[in-house]
Amino acid sequence: MDNTSPILPGATIGILGSGQLGRMLALAARRMGYRVHVFSPEQDTPAGQVSDREFSAPYDDLDAVRAFAGTVDAITYEFENVPAATAAACAAIRPLRPGVEALQIAQNRLYEKRFFAANGLPITPFAPVSNLAELQQGLATVGCPAILKTATAGYDGKGQQLITQTGQAQASWEAIGHAPAVLEGYVHFAQELSVIAARGVDGQFVPYDLFANTHRRHILDTSQTPAAVPASIAAQAVDYTQVVMEQLDVIGVLCVEFFLTADGRLLLNEIAPRPHNSGHLTVDACLTSQFEQQLRAVCGLPLGDAACLQPAAMANLLGDLWQNGEPDWASVLRLPGIKLHLYGKKEARPGRKMGHLTALADSAAAAAGQVRQARQRLRGKMNPAR
Ligand code: AMP
Repeated sequence: MDNTSPILPGATIGILGSGQLGRMLALAARRMGYRVHVFSPEQDTPAGQVSDREFSAPYDDLDAVRAFAGTVDAITYEFENVPAATAAACAAIRPLRPGVEALQIAQNRLYEKRFFAANGLPITPFAPVSNLAELQQGLATVGCPAILKTATAGYDGKGQQLITQTGQAQASWEAIGHAPAVLEGYVHFAQELSVIAARGVDGQFVPYDLFANTHRRHILDTSQTPAAVPASIAAQAVDYTQVVMEQLDVIGVLCVEFFLTADGRLLLNEIAPRPHNSGHLTVDACLTSQFEQQLRAVCGLPLGDAACLQPAAMANLLGDLWQNGEPDWASVLRLPGIKLHLYGKKEARPGRKMGHLTALADSAAAAAGQVRQARQRLRGKMNPAR
């Protein structure tokens, strides 16, 4: 069900998923006078803690999904592994933004690659893999090194195998559990970049400045903006993002992750039809955060100004930081200009995103130095072993 009349403050936003992205959307929505209901299988979640109502039921309990949808005015999702049938059940009752198609493309790496290829968007060579013979054939065409990624349910490097020699094919196929997969050529990138943009019901398109990202163990580690790339590269990345959003008719926020090769070529890696970890610094650094932008788009309101007030950087805080006890919060809160965000997760597991730090500075590089140093302090006094 869709219509273009604006959904005004006082209305209720429904969120499928209940992690930190939902939490930050809920906080932005509440600040603008909206109510928020969240739906996920868990209870006392990062998003549920700051919402008016938390619905807890399995995603495939479509009666519960429909009951949730009936209590809200518009619905969005905060992570892309929400089953398409759940999203479709919501879309039949209330406006679901972005729609089911963007979700389906983003949750399957093969669909995503085919979508990029069909729209002339540059990507690394790839081959679909559904058995060992196809993997061996794929290695012959894609070449080595290559990365084998499960087509679905993979994020933050989960379900990925680096293959450096063809002899590793069988072991890699076993390591991903014989799941349908995509083999893609390894990219010797100079930089990883992302573009986050919002698109309104009327097609208004508002991108943020590019983010330059670093990863550790396949998980985002730091982001900084503006990225140090030539203006022509930045413009090209934004153009590709607009193509993606228009082709998928996305109403909401979407992120495109790119590789930039040493010879200046942009390659699309993947898309996320929602706010993105690389844009968390927009909360502290930009006139309109990515979460407020998502709210405005989902509600059919004019989009905000995405300008960044100052160069900024973000460092993720993973559960590993808790390995030897509670991090030394006071040591970073003592630093002027460092902002601490924690997501209210009760259990700190290695690799789990628990929070982030943001800093603003005269340059993006200086801000990145500050958040890295601040994060180092968290391992300080209370964790002498690290
Ligand atoms: P993904 O889950 O596809 O975003 O992958 C997580 C991270 O793994 C990326 O941000 C890169 O750092 C690395 N990676 C993924 N695919 C490739 C590739 N084809 N070549 C080189 N590095 C990759």
